[in-house]
Amino acid sequence: MARQVLQGIPVSTGVALGKAFFLNRGRSRNIPRHNIPDRDVSSEIQRVEQAFAQALAELEDIQLRVPAELLEHARIIDSHIMMLQDPKLLESSKDYIQRMHLNAEWGLEKAVADIEAVFHSIEDSYIRERIQDVRLVAGRVQQHLLGESGNNLHSITTRIILLAHDLSPADTVELEVGKIMAFATVTGGKTSHTGILARAMQIPAIVGVADLEETIRDGEVIIIDGLQGRIIIDPDEEELAGFTDLKYQFEQYQAGINRSSHLPAETIDGYRVKVFANIELLEEVSSVLGNGGEGVGLYRTEYSYLNRVKLPDEEQLLEEYQDLASIMFPGKVVLRTLDVGADKFMHHFGGLDEANPALGLRGVRFCLHHADLFRVQLRAILRASLHENISLMFPMVSGLGELRQIKAVFNSVQMELKKQGLKYNPEMPVGMMIELPSAMITADILATEVDFFSIGTNDLIQYSLGIDRTNSYVSYLYQPLHPALVRMIKYVVDAGHRAGIEVSICGEMAADPYCIPVLMGMHVDCLSMNPQAMPVIKHIVRQATMEECKTLLKEVLASKTVGRNNKLVKDSIFRRHPNELMFYSSLLDEGY
Ligand code: PEP
Ligand code: MG
Repeated sequence: MARQVLQGIPVSTGVALGKAFFLNRGRSRNIPRHNIPDRDVSSEIQRVEQAFAQALAELEDIQLRVPAELLEHARIIDSHIMMLQDPKLLESSKDYIQRMHLNAEWGLEKAVADIEAVFHSIEDSYIRERIQDVRLVAGRVQQHLLGESGNNLHSITTRIILLAHDLSPADTVELEVGKIMAFATVTGGKTSHTGILARAMQIPAIVGVADLEETIRDGEVIIIDGLQGRIIIDPDEEELAGFTDLKYQFEQYQAGINRSSHLPAETIDGYRVKVFANIELLEEVSSVLGNGGEGVGLYRTEYSYLNRVKLPDEEQLLEEYQDLASIMFPGKVVLRTLDVGADKFMHHFGGLDEANPALGLRGVRFCLHHADLFRVQLRAILRASLHENISLMFPMVSGLGELRQIKAVFNSVQMELKKQGLKYNPEMPVGMMIELPSAMITADILATEVDFFSIGTNDLIQYSLGIDRTNSYVSYLYQPLHPALVRMIKYVVDAGHRAGIEVSICGEMAADPYCIPVLMGMHVDCLSMNPQAMPVIKHIVRQATMEECKTLLKEVLASKTVGRNNKLVKDSIFRRHPNELMFYSSLLDEGY
Protein backbone atom coordinates (compact mmCIF):
# COMPACT_ATOMS: atom_id res chain seq x y z
CA MET A 1 0.00 0.00 0.00
CA ALA A 2 1.40 3.39 -0.95
CA ARG A 3 1.69 6.07 1.66
CA GLN A 4 -1.73 7.19 2.81
CA VAL A 5 -3.31 9.09 5.68
CA LEU A 6 -6.60 8.15 7.36
CA GLN A 7 -8.45 10.49 9.67
CA GLY A 8 -10.46 9.54 12.75
CA ILE A 9 -11.44 10.91 16.15
CA PRO A 10 -8.60 11.00 18.66
CA VAL A 11 -9.86 9.57 21.97
CA SER A 12 -6.64 8.93 23.81
CA THR A 13 -3.58 11.03 23.35
CA GLY A 14 -0.07 9.94 22.38
CA VAL A 15 1.91 8.76 19.38
CA ALA A 16 2.87 5.23 18.36
CA LEU A 17 4.79 3.70 15.48
CA GLY A 18 4.57 0.00 14.76
CA LYS A 19 3.18 -2.89 12.77
CA ALA A 20 -0.56 -3.22 12.19
CA PHE A 21 -2.35 -6.24 13.58
CA PHE A 22 -6.02 -6.80 12.78
CA LEU A 23 -8.18 -8.36 15.39
CA ASN A 24 -10.69 -10.70 13.76
CA ARG A 25 -10.64 -8.88 10.46
CA GLY A 26 -13.82 -9.36 8.59
CA ARG A 27 -15.33 -11.33 11.41
CA SER A 28 -19.06 -11.83 11.06
CA ARG A 29 -19.34 -9.46 8.15
CA ASN A 30 -20.97 -11.93 5.80
CA ILE A 31 -24.02 -12.92 7.69
CA PRO A 32 -26.09 -15.52 5.83
CA ARG A 33 -29.69 -14.48 5.27
CA HIS A 34 -32.27 -16.95 4.13
CA ASN A 35 -35.76 -18.11 4.90
CA ILE A 36 -36.21 -21.46 6.52
CA PRO A 37 -38.93 -24.05 6.08
CA ASP A 38 -41.42 -24.78 8.88
CA ARG A 39 -39.62 -27.92 9.91
CA ASP A 40 -36.38 -26.01 10.67
CA VAL A 41 -37.93 -23.40 12.96
CA SER A 42 -37.36 -25.23 16.21
CA SER A 43 -33.78 -26.21 15.35
CA GLU A 44 -32.94 -22.60 14.43
CA ILE A 45 -34.43 -21.46 17.72
CA GLN A 46 -32.29 -23.99 19.49
CA ARG A 47 -29.24 -22.75 17.62
CA VAL A 48 -29.80 -19.16 18.67
CA GLU A 49 -30.44 -20.19 22.29
CA GLN A 50 -27.24 -22.19 22.29
CA ALA A 51 -25.24 -19.32 20.80
CA PHE A 52 -26.50 -16.97 23.53
CA ALA A 53 -25.52 -19.51 26.18
CA GLN A 54 -22.05 -19.96 24.65
CA ALA A 55 -21.48 -16.21 24.44
CA LEU A 56 -22.54 -15.86 28.06
CA ALA A 57 -20.21 -18.64 29.21
CA GLU A 58 -17.37 -17.06 27.25
CA LEU A 59 -17.89 -13.64 28.84
CA GLU A 60 -18.13 -15.16 32.30
CA ASP A 61 -14.83 -16.88 31.64
CA ILE A 62 -13.22 -13.62 30.51
CA GLN A 63 -14.55 -11.93 33.61
CA LEU A 64 -12.66 -14.43 35.76
CA ARG A 65 -9.44 -13.77 33.87
CA VAL A 66 -9.42 -9.97 34.12
CA PRO A 67 -5.99 -8.84 35.30
CA ALA A 68 -6.00 -7.20 38.74
CA GLU A 69 -5.04 -3.75 37.47
CA LEU A 70 -8.08 -3.67 35.20
CA LEU A 71 -10.53 -5.10 37.68
CA GLU A 72 -12.44 -1.84 37.95
CA HIS A 73 -13.16 -1.91 34.24
CA ALA A 74 -14.62 -5.38 34.41
CA ARG A 75 -17.90 -3.75 35.39
CA ILE A 76 -18.45 -3.06 31.71
CA ILE A 77 -18.25 -6.80 31.13
CA ASP A 78 -20.85 -7.20 33.88
CA SER A 79 -23.20 -5.01 31.89
CA HIS A 80 -22.58 -7.11 28.75
CA ILE A 81 -23.35 -10.23 30.73
CA MET A 82 -26.55 -8.60 31.91
CA MET A 83 -27.53 -7.76 28.34
CA LEU A 84 -27.10 -11.42 27.44
CA GLN A 85 -29.16 -12.46 30.41
CA ASP A 86 -31.89 -9.98 29.56
CA PRO A 87 -34.37 -12.09 27.59
CA LYS A 88 -35.34 -9.24 25.21
CA LEU A 89 -32.72 -9.67 22.53
CA LEU A 90 -33.01 -13.44 22.52
CA GLU A 91 -36.81 -13.38 22.55
CA SER A 92 -36.96 -10.86 19.74
CA SER A 93 -34.51 -12.97 17.65
CA LYS A 94 -36.61 -16.07 18.28
CA ASP A 95 -39.71 -14.15 17.33
CA TYR A 96 -38.22 -13.31 13.91
CA ILE A 97 -37.31 -16.97 13.38
CA GLN A 98 -40.77 -18.11 14.42
CA ARG A 99 -42.91 -15.50 12.71
CA MET A 100 -40.94 -14.64 9.61
CA HIS A 101 -39.05 -17.88 9.16
CA LEU A 102 -35.66 -16.20 9.12
CA ASN A 103 -32.49 -18.17 9.78
CA ALA A 104 -30.98 -17.64 13.24
CA GLU A 105 -28.21 -15.22 12.12
CA TRP A 106 -30.68 -13.04 10.24
CA GLY A 107 -33.19 -13.14 13.11
CA LEU A 108 -30.54 -11.87 15.49
CA GLU A 109 -29.53 -9.17 13.04
CA LYS A 110 -33.13 -7.95 12.73
CA ALA A 111 -33.54 -7.90 16.52
CA VAL A 112 -30.41 -5.74 16.85
CA ALA A 113 -31.63 -3.43 14.07
CA ASP A 114 -34.84 -2.80 16.02
CA ILE A 115 -32.88 -1.76 19.09
CA GLU A 116 -30.61 0.39 16.92
CA ALA A 117 -33.60 2.27 15.56
CA VAL A 118 -34.64 3.17 19.10
CA PHE A 119 -31.14 4.29 20.09
CA HIS A 120 -30.78 6.28 16.89
CA SER A 121 -33.43 8.74 18.02
CA ILE A 122 -31.64 9.47 21.28
CA GLU A 123 -30.22 12.94 21.37
CA ASP A 124 -27.59 12.49 24.07
CA SER A 125 -24.48 11.25 22.26
CA TYR A 126 -23.12 9.44 25.28
CA ILE A 127 -26.23 7.36 25.73
CA ARG A 128 -26.75 6.93 21.99
CA GLU A 129 -23.31 5.43 21.67
CA ARG A 130 -24.25 2.71 24.14
CA ILE A 131 -25.74 0.98 21.09
CA GLN A 132 -22.14 -0.07 20.48
CA ASP A 133 -22.46 -2.33 23.51
CA VAL A 134 -25.56 -4.00 22.11
CA ARG A 135 -23.74 -4.57 18.81
CA LEU A 136 -20.70 -5.99 20.55
CA VAL A 137 -22.77 -8.38 22.58
CA ALA A 138 -24.75 -9.43 19.51
CA GLY A 139 -21.49 -9.81 17.55
CA ARG A 140 -20.22 -12.29 20.09
CA VAL A 141 -23.42 -14.35 19.74
CA GLN A 142 -23.20 -14.08 15.97
CA GLN A 143 -19.68 -15.57 16.01
CA HIS A 144 -20.98 -18.62 17.78
CA LEU A 145 -23.80 -18.97 15.29
CA LEU A 146 -21.29 -18.73 12.46
CA GLY A 147 -18.96 -21.21 14.12
CA GLU A 148 -16.11 -18.70 14.11
CA SER A 149 -13.43 -19.15 16.72
CA GLY A 150 -13.18 -16.56 19.46
CA ASN A 151 -10.84 -13.60 19.29
CA ASN A 152 -7.23 -14.10 18.43
CA LEU A 153 -5.75 -11.82 21.04
CA HIS A 154 -3.72 -14.66 22.45
CA SER A 155 -1.88 -15.09 19.18
CA ILE A 156 -0.21 -11.70 19.63
CA THR A 157 3.40 -12.29 20.54
CA THR A 158 5.20 -9.07 19.64
CA ARG A 159 4.41 -5.42 20.28
CA ILE A 160 1.87 -4.27 17.71
CA ILE A 161 -0.70 -1.61 16.88
CA LEU A 162 -4.11 -3.19 17.20
CA LEU A 163 -6.75 -2.45 14.57
CA ALA A 164 -10.31 -3.67 14.74
CA HIS A 165 -13.77 -2.99 13.45
CA ASP A 166 -15.03 -2.82 17.03
CA LEU A 167 -13.12 -3.34 20.19
CA SER A 168 -15.41 -4.56 22.91
CA PRO A 169 -14.69 -3.75 26.55
CA ALA A 170 -14.17 -7.48 27.01
CA ASP A 171 -11.56 -7.44 24.23
CA THR A 172 -9.99 -4.36 25.73
CA VAL A 173 -9.53 -5.71 29.22
CA GLU A 174 -7.92 -8.80 27.73
CA LEU A 175 -5.31 -6.72 25.98
CA GLU A 176 -1.91 -7.06 27.46
CA VAL A 177 -0.87 -3.47 27.79
CA GLY A 178 2.76 -4.40 27.28
CA LYS A 179 2.03 -5.80 23.81
CA ILE A 180 -0.31 -3.16 22.45
CA MET A 181 1.23 0.17 21.57
CA ALA A 182 -1.96 1.83 20.35
CA PHE A 183 -5.25 0.98 18.78
CA ALA A 184 -7.71 2.22 16.20
CA THR A 185 -11.24 1.15 15.35
CA VAL A 186 -13.77 1.77 12.59
CA THR A 187 -16.63 2.41 15.00
CA GLY A 188 -16.90 4.54 18.11
CA GLY A 189 -17.18 8.16 19.13
CA LYS A 190 -15.66 10.50 21.65
CA THR A 191 -17.60 9.04 24.54
CA SER A 192 -17.48 5.34 23.67
CA HIS A 193 -16.14 2.87 26.21
CA THR A 194 -13.19 2.17 23.98
CA GLY A 195 -12.02 5.74 24.46
CA ILE A 196 -12.65 5.68 28.19
CA LEU A 197 -10.63 2.49 28.55
CA ALA A 198 -7.85 3.64 26.26
CA ARG A 199 -7.41 6.75 28.37
CA ALA A 200 -7.43 4.69 31.55
CA MET A 201 -4.76 2.43 30.08
CA GLN A 202 -2.88 5.43 28.68
CA ILE A 203 -2.63 3.94 25.20
CA PRO A 204 -2.98 6.27 22.19
CA ALA A 205 -6.25 5.52 20.40
CA ILE A 206 -8.31 6.71 17.45
CA VAL A 207 -11.90 5.69 16.76
CA GLY A 208 -14.32 6.31 13.90
CA VAL A 209 -11.75 5.59 11.17
CA ALA A 210 -13.72 4.78 8.03
CA ASP A 211 -11.87 2.59 5.49
CA LEU A 212 -9.56 1.19 8.17
CA GLU A 213 -10.21 -2.41 7.15
CA GLU A 214 -10.06 -1.73 3.42
CA THR A 215 -6.87 0.32 3.52
CA ILE A 216 -4.41 -1.26 5.91
CA ARG A 217 -2.79 -4.70 5.57
CA ASP A 218 -1.62 -6.83 8.47
CA GLY A 219 2.04 -6.25 9.22
CA GLU A 220 2.13 -2.86 7.49
CA VAL A 221 4.06 -0.14 9.32
CA ILE A 222 1.76 2.61 10.52
CA ILE A 223 1.89 5.66 12.73
CA ILE A 224 -0.95 6.35 15.13
CA ASP A 225 -1.08 10.04 15.88
CA GLY A 226 -3.45 10.20 18.84
CA LEU A 227 -2.92 13.96 19.06
CA GLN A 228 -4.45 14.79 15.68
CA GLY A 229 -6.44 11.60 15.09
CA ARG A 230 -4.38 10.52 12.06
CA ILE A 231 -3.09 7.17 10.90
CA ILE A 232 -0.16 7.35 8.51
CA ILE A 233 0.27 4.19 6.48
CA ASP A 234 3.66 3.24 5.17
CA PRO A 235 5.34 6.50 6.21
CA ASP A 236 8.37 7.72 4.29
CA GLU A 237 11.72 8.27 5.97
CA GLU A 238 11.11 11.90 6.71
CA GLU A 239 7.78 11.13 8.37
CA LEU A 240 9.31 8.31 10.35
CA ALA A 241 11.97 10.63 11.67
CA GLY A 242 9.38 13.34 12.35
CA PHE A 243 7.14 11.04 14.31
CA THR A 244 9.94 9.44 16.29
CA ASP A 245 10.83 12.94 17.29
CA LEU A 246 7.21 13.90 18.06
CA LYS A 247 6.78 10.78 20.18
CA TYR A 248 9.87 11.57 22.18
CA GLN A 249 8.82 15.18 22.66
CA PHE A 250 5.31 14.20 23.66
CA GLU A 251 6.54 11.70 26.22
CA GLN A 252 8.91 14.25 27.69
CA TYR A 253 6.14 16.82 27.75
CA GLN A 254 3.66 14.49 29.45
CA ALA A 255 6.17 13.32 32.00
CA GLY A 256 6.85 16.97 32.82
CA ILE A 257 3.23 18.02 33.25
CA ASN A 258 2.36 14.82 35.11
CA ARG A 259 5.13 15.52 37.60
CA SER A 260 3.51 18.82 38.49
CA SER A 261 -0.13 17.68 38.24
CA HIS A 262 -0.43 17.32 42.01
CA LEU A 263 0.50 20.93 42.60
CA PRO A 264 -2.36 23.38 42.98
CA ALA A 265 -3.59 25.27 39.91
CA GLU A 266 -2.30 28.66 40.97
CA THR A 267 -1.18 31.46 38.70
CA ILE A 268 2.27 32.99 39.03
CA ASP A 269 0.68 35.93 40.85
CA GLY A 270 -1.15 33.72 43.35
CA TYR A 271 -4.69 33.33 42.01
CA ARG A 272 -5.99 29.83 42.67
CA VAL A 273 -8.62 27.88 40.75
CA LYS A 274 -9.92 24.44 41.75
CA VAL A 275 -9.48 21.68 39.21
CA PHE A 276 -12.15 19.00 39.43
CA ALA A 277 -13.12 16.04 37.25
CA ASN A 278 -16.20 15.11 35.25
CA ILE A 279 -16.79 11.38 35.45
CA GLU A 280 -19.44 8.89 34.42
CA LEU A 281 -18.14 5.77 36.12
CA LEU A 282 -17.05 5.06 39.64
CA GLU A 283 -13.96 3.34 38.30
CA GLU A 284 -12.68 6.59 36.84
CA VAL A 285 -11.86 7.79 40.34
CA SER A 286 -8.34 6.38 40.16
CA SER A 287 -7.71 8.48 37.11
CA VAL A 288 -9.08 11.57 38.92
CA LEU A 289 -6.63 11.06 41.76
CA GLY A 290 -3.77 10.03 39.49
CA ASN A 291 -4.12 13.18 37.41
CA GLY A 292 -4.20 15.55 40.35
CA GLY A 293 -7.98 16.15 40.57
CA GLU A 294 -9.07 17.89 43.74
CA GLY A 295 -12.57 16.49 43.57
CA VAL A 296 -15.38 15.41 41.25
CA GLY A 297 -17.14 18.50 39.91
CA LEU A 298 -19.67 16.53 37.90
CA TYR A 299 -20.74 12.95 38.47
CA ARG A 300 -23.07 12.08 35.60
CA THR A 301 -25.33 9.77 37.60
CA GLU A 302 -27.32 8.68 34.54
CA TYR A 303 -24.70 6.09 33.71
CA SER A 304 -25.82 3.88 36.60
CA TYR A 305 -29.27 3.72 35.04
CA LEU A 306 -27.95 2.43 31.72
CA ASN A 307 -26.78 -1.06 30.87
CA ARG A 308 -29.14 -2.39 33.48
CA VAL A 309 -32.01 -4.72 33.07
CA LYS A 310 -33.71 -3.21 36.12
CA LEU A 311 -33.56 0.35 37.41
CA PRO A 312 -31.14 0.71 40.30
CA ASP A 313 -32.84 0.77 43.69
CA GLU A 314 -32.19 3.17 46.55
CA GLU A 315 -29.72 0.87 48.32
CA GLN A 316 -27.66 0.32 45.16
CA LEU A 317 -27.49 4.04 44.48
CA LEU A 318 -26.67 4.79 48.11
CA GLU A 319 -23.79 2.34 48.06
CA GLU A 320 -22.44 3.79 44.82
CA TYR A 321 -22.59 7.40 46.07
CA GLN A 322 -21.07 6.45 49.43
CA ASP A 323 -18.22 4.60 47.72
CA LEU A 324 -17.51 7.59 45.52
CA ALA A 325 -17.61 10.01 48.45
CA SER A 326 -15.34 7.96 50.66
CA ILE A 327 -12.74 7.31 47.95
CA MET A 328 -12.64 11.00 47.07
CA PHE A 329 -12.68 12.29 50.66
CA PRO A 330 -11.75 14.99 51.58
CA GLY A 331 -12.19 16.04 47.92
CA LYS A 332 -15.63 17.31 47.04
CA VAL A 333 -18.08 15.23 44.98
CA VAL A 334 -20.92 16.88 43.07
CA LEU A 335 -23.71 14.41 42.28
CA ARG A 336 -25.80 15.64 39.40
CA THR A 337 -29.32 14.24 39.37
CA LEU A 338 -30.39 12.13 36.43
CA ASP A 339 -30.01 13.96 33.11
CA VAL A 340 -31.82 11.83 30.54
CA GLY A 341 -34.79 12.07 28.24
CA ALA A 342 -37.82 9.80 28.26
CA ASP A 343 -36.74 8.14 25.03
CA LYS A 344 -33.57 6.95 26.70
CA PHE A 345 -35.43 4.48 28.85
CA MET A 346 -37.89 3.09 26.38
CA HIS A 347 -37.93 -0.36 27.90
CA HIS A 348 -38.50 0.99 31.40
CA PHE A 349 -40.94 3.79 30.72
CA GLY A 350 -42.36 3.40 27.26
CA GLY A 351 -41.31 5.96 24.69
CA LEU A 352 -42.58 9.46 24.23
CA ASP A 353 -43.12 10.68 20.73
CA GLU A 354 -41.02 13.82 20.73
CA ALA A 355 -40.09 15.64 17.53
CA ASN A 356 -37.22 17.47 19.26
CA PRO A 357 -35.98 15.39 22.20
CA ALA A 358 -33.29 18.00 23.00
CA LEU A 359 -36.12 20.43 23.64
CA GLY A 360 -38.30 17.85 25.31
CA LEU A 361 -38.59 15.93 28.51
CA ARG A 362 -34.97 15.81 29.62
CA GLY A 363 -33.01 16.58 32.79
CA VAL A 364 -35.15 17.83 35.66
CA ARG A 365 -38.22 17.87 33.41
CA PHE A 366 -37.93 14.12 33.03
CA CYS A 367 -37.41 13.78 36.79
CA LEU A 368 -40.45 15.89 37.64
CA HIS A 369 -42.48 13.82 35.20
CA HIS A 370 -41.24 10.58 36.75
CA ALA A 371 -41.37 11.81 40.33
CA ASP A 372 -41.12 8.32 41.86
CA LEU A 373 -37.86 7.63 40.14
CA PHE A 374 -36.59 11.10 41.09
CA ARG A 375 -37.51 10.58 44.73
CA VAL A 376 -35.58 7.31 44.87
CA GLN A 377 -32.48 9.07 43.62
CA LEU A 378 -32.93 12.03 45.97
CA ARG A 379 -33.38 9.67 48.93
CA ALA A 380 -30.12 7.91 48.02
CA ILE A 381 -28.27 11.20 47.59
CA LEU A 382 -29.60 12.61 50.85
CA ARG A 383 -28.73 9.47 52.80
CA ALA A 384 -25.25 9.49 51.23
CA SER A 385 -24.89 13.16 52.25
CA LEU A 386 -23.77 12.08 55.70
CA HIS A 387 -20.47 11.98 53.86
CA GLU A 388 -20.01 15.69 54.13
CA ASN A 389 -18.02 16.07 50.94
CA ILE A 390 -21.16 15.45 48.83
CA SER A 391 -23.05 18.23 47.02
CA LEU A 392 -26.14 17.93 44.86
CA MET A 393 -26.74 19.61 41.52
CA PHE A 394 -29.77 19.85 39.21
CA PRO A 395 -29.36 19.86 35.41
CA MET A 396 -31.38 21.68 32.73
CA VAL A 397 -33.18 24.07 35.07
CA SER A 398 -34.99 26.71 33.00
CA GLY A 399 -35.84 29.26 35.68
CA LEU A 400 -36.94 30.07 39.19
CA GLY A 401 -40.41 28.51 38.98
CA GLU A 402 -38.98 25.18 37.94
CA LEU A 403 -36.20 25.38 40.53
CA ARG A 404 -38.81 25.91 43.27
CA GLN A 405 -40.81 22.98 41.97
CA ILE A 406 -37.72 20.75 42.19
CA LYS A 407 -36.89 22.06 45.63
CA ALA A 408 -40.43 21.27 46.80
CA VAL A 409 -39.87 17.62 45.85
CA PHE A 410 -36.46 17.74 47.50
CA ASN A 411 -37.95 19.17 50.72
CA SER A 412 -40.70 16.60 50.81
CA VAL A 413 -38.16 13.80 50.41
CA GLN A 414 -36.26 15.25 53.37
CA MET A 415 -39.45 15.25 55.46
CA GLU A 416 -40.12 11.67 54.47
CA LEU A 417 -36.63 10.57 55.57
CA LYS A 418 -37.00 12.45 58.83
CA LYS A 419 -40.31 10.71 59.53
CA GLN A 420 -38.68 7.36 58.88
CA GLY A 421 -35.83 8.24 61.20
CA LEU A 422 -33.28 8.12 58.38
CA LYS A 423 -30.40 10.53 58.74
CA TYR A 424 -29.05 12.99 56.18
CA ASN A 425 -27.06 16.19 56.11
CA PRO A 426 -29.52 19.12 56.05
CA GLU A 427 -26.62 21.43 55.17
CA MET A 428 -25.65 19.58 51.97
CA PRO A 429 -24.84 22.27 49.35
CA VAL A 430 -27.44 22.32 46.57
CA GLY A 431 -26.47 23.84 43.26
CA MET A 432 -27.75 24.03 39.73
CA MET A 433 -26.32 23.90 36.25
CA ILE A 434 -26.59 26.93 34.07
CA GLU A 435 -27.04 25.48 30.60
CA LEU A 436 -30.13 27.17 29.24
CA PRO A 437 -30.19 30.81 28.07
CA SER A 438 -33.25 31.44 30.27
CA ALA A 439 -31.30 30.37 33.37
CA MET A 440 -28.29 32.36 32.24
CA ILE A 441 -30.15 35.65 31.88
CA THR A 442 -31.92 35.18 35.23
CA ALA A 443 -28.74 34.06 36.99
CA ASP A 444 -28.97 37.03 39.38
CA ILE A 445 -32.38 35.79 40.59
CA LEU A 446 -31.38 32.11 40.71
CA ALA A 447 -28.14 32.85 42.56
CA THR A 448 -30.09 33.77 45.70
CA GLU A 449 -31.76 30.35 45.78
CA VAL A 450 -28.84 27.93 45.34
CA ASP A 451 -25.45 27.33 46.92
CA PHE A 452 -23.45 27.20 43.70
CA PHE A 453 -23.64 27.41 39.92
CA SER A 454 -21.97 25.12 37.43
CA ILE A 455 -22.03 26.35 33.86
CA GLY A 456 -22.56 23.50 31.39
CA THR A 457 -21.10 25.01 28.27
CA ASN A 458 -21.84 21.94 26.14
CA ASP A 459 -25.54 22.60 26.38
CA LEU A 460 -25.31 26.37 26.83
CA ILE A 461 -23.62 26.53 23.41
CA GLN A 462 -26.18 24.16 21.91
CA TYR A 463 -29.18 26.08 23.18
CA SER A 464 -27.93 29.61 22.74
CA LEU A 465 -26.29 29.26 19.32
CA GLY A 466 -29.03 26.90 18.11
CA ILE A 467 -26.61 24.11 17.24
CA ASP A 468 -27.38 20.46 17.84
CA ARG A 469 -24.25 19.38 19.69
CA THR A 470 -24.34 15.98 17.98
CA ASN A 471 -24.84 17.23 14.42
CA SER A 472 -21.65 17.13 12.37
CA TYR A 473 -23.02 19.47 9.66
CA VAL A 474 -23.12 22.40 12.05
CA SER A 475 -20.18 21.49 14.26
CA TYR A 476 -18.15 24.31 12.67
CA LEU A 477 -20.55 26.72 14.39
CA TYR A 478 -20.03 25.07 17.77
CA GLN A 479 -17.74 27.79 19.04
CA PRO A 480 -17.08 28.31 22.75
CA LEU A 481 -15.53 31.71 22.17
CA HIS A 482 -18.49 33.16 20.28
CA PRO A 483 -18.88 36.70 21.69
CA ALA A 484 -22.37 35.72 22.89
CA LEU A 485 -20.95 32.86 24.94
CA VAL A 486 -18.14 34.87 26.45
CA ARG A 487 -20.59 37.56 27.54
CA MET A 488 -23.02 35.00 28.93
CA ILE A 489 -20.41 33.18 30.98
CA LYS A 490 -19.08 36.48 32.33
CA TYR A 491 -22.61 37.54 33.25
CA VAL A 492 -23.25 34.31 35.18
CA VAL A 493 -19.89 34.40 36.99
CA ASP A 494 -20.49 38.00 38.06
CA ALA A 495 -24.09 37.32 39.13
CA GLY A 496 -22.96 34.33 41.18
CA HIS A 497 -20.16 36.24 42.84
CA ARG A 498 -22.40 39.21 43.66
CA ALA A 499 -24.65 36.76 45.52
CA GLY A 500 -21.63 35.22 47.25
CA ILE A 501 -21.78 31.78 45.61
CA GLU A 502 -19.12 29.82 43.71
CA VAL A 503 -19.28 29.42 39.96
CA SER A 504 -17.74 26.44 38.14
CA ILE A 505 -17.42 25.59 34.49
CA CYS A 506 -18.05 21.93 33.74
CA GLY A 507 -18.53 21.77 29.96
CA GLU A 508 -15.76 20.61 27.61
CA MET A 509 -14.68 24.24 27.32
CA ALA A 510 -13.01 23.86 30.71
CA ALA A 511 -10.68 21.24 29.18
CA ASP A 512 -9.69 23.46 26.26
CA PRO A 513 -6.23 24.93 26.83
CA TYR A 514 -7.02 27.97 24.68
CA CYS A 515 -10.14 28.89 26.65
CA ILE A 516 -8.52 28.72 30.08
CA PRO A 517 -6.98 32.22 30.24
CA VAL A 518 -10.33 33.77 29.26
CA LEU A 519 -12.18 31.82 31.97
CA MET A 520 -9.46 32.62 34.49
CA GLY A 521 -9.80 36.30 33.63
CA MET A 522 -13.42 36.06 34.78
CA HIS A 523 -12.30 34.61 38.13
CA VAL A 524 -14.19 31.34 37.81
CA ASP A 525 -13.82 29.36 41.03
CA CYS A 526 -13.54 25.87 39.60
CA LEU A 527 -12.82 24.15 36.30
CA SER A 528 -14.25 20.65 35.97
CA MET A 529 -13.16 18.42 33.09
CA ASN A 530 -12.35 14.90 31.92
CA PRO A 531 -9.56 13.59 34.20
CA GLN A 532 -6.99 13.21 31.42
CA ALA A 533 -7.12 16.92 30.64
CA MET A 534 -6.28 18.01 34.17
CA PRO A 535 -2.45 17.94 34.03
CA VAL A 536 -2.35 20.16 30.92
CA ILE A 537 -4.92 22.59 32.29
CA LYS A 538 -3.13 22.85 35.62
CA HIS A 539 0.11 23.46 33.77
CA ILE A 540 -1.45 26.30 31.78
CA VAL A 541 -2.89 27.92 34.90
CA ARG A 542 0.46 27.65 36.67
CA GLN A 543 2.25 29.38 33.79
CA ALA A 544 -0.23 32.28 33.61
CA THR A 545 -0.64 35.51 35.50
CA MET A 546 -4.05 36.83 36.42
CA GLU A 547 -3.01 40.17 35.02
CA GLU A 548 -2.48 38.83 31.52
CA CYS A 549 -5.68 36.73 31.73
CA LYS A 550 -7.61 39.88 32.56
CA THR A 551 -6.03 41.82 29.72
CA LEU A 552 -6.89 39.01 27.33
CA LEU A 553 -10.47 38.85 28.61
CA LYS A 554 -10.83 42.58 28.09
CA GLU A 555 -9.70 42.25 24.48
CA VAL A 556 -11.99 39.28 23.91
CA LEU A 557 -14.97 41.12 25.38
CA ALA A 558 -14.28 44.06 23.09
CA SER A 559 -14.09 41.86 19.99
CA LYS A 560 -17.04 41.30 17.71
CA THR A 561 -16.33 37.94 16.12
CA VAL A 562 -15.42 34.35 17.00
CA GLY A 563 -12.62 34.52 14.47
CA ARG A 564 -10.93 37.39 16.24
CA ASN A 565 -11.40 35.76 19.64
CA ASN A 566 -9.88 32.52 18.47
CA LYS A 567 -6.92 34.41 17.08
CA LEU A 568 -6.49 36.42 20.27
CA VAL A 569 -6.40 33.32 22.48
CA LYS A 570 -4.16 31.38 20.12
CA ASP A 571 -1.66 34.22 19.96
CA SER A 572 -1.71 34.52 23.71
CA ILE A 573 -1.06 30.80 24.28
CA PHE A 574 1.59 30.86 21.58
CA ARG A 575 3.44 33.63 23.37
CA ARG A 576 3.52 31.59 26.59
CA HIS A 577 3.86 28.03 25.22
CA PRO A 578 5.37 28.27 21.72
CA ASN A 579 6.56 24.67 21.67
CA GLU A 580 3.50 22.99 23.12
CA LEU A 581 0.71 23.88 20.70
CA MET A 582 0.98 20.54 18.91
CA PHE A 583 0.12 18.74 22.15
CA TYR A 584 -3.10 20.65 22.76
CA SER A 585 -6.46 19.42 21.61
CA SER A 586 -9.07 22.14 21.22
CA LEU A 587 -12.72 22.76 20.44
CA LEU A 588 -11.84 25.90 18.50
CA ASP A 589 -12.46 25.43 14.82
CA GLU A 590 -9.42 25.71 12.58
CA GLY A 591 -11.39 27.48 9.90
CA TYR A 592 -11.96 30.58 11.96
C1 PEP B 1 -22.88 20.49 29.74
O1 PEP B 1 -23.98 20.56 29.19
O2 PEP B 1 -21.94 21.29 29.52
C2 PEP B 1 -22.59 19.43 30.72
C3 PEP B 1 -21.47 19.40 31.39
O3 PEP B 1 -23.51 18.44 30.84
P1 PEP B 1 -23.64 17.22 29.80
O4 PEP B 1 -22.47 17.27 28.88
O5 PEP B 1 -23.69 16.00 30.64
O6 PEP B 1 -24.95 17.55 29.12
MG1 MG C 1 -25.65 19.40 29.89
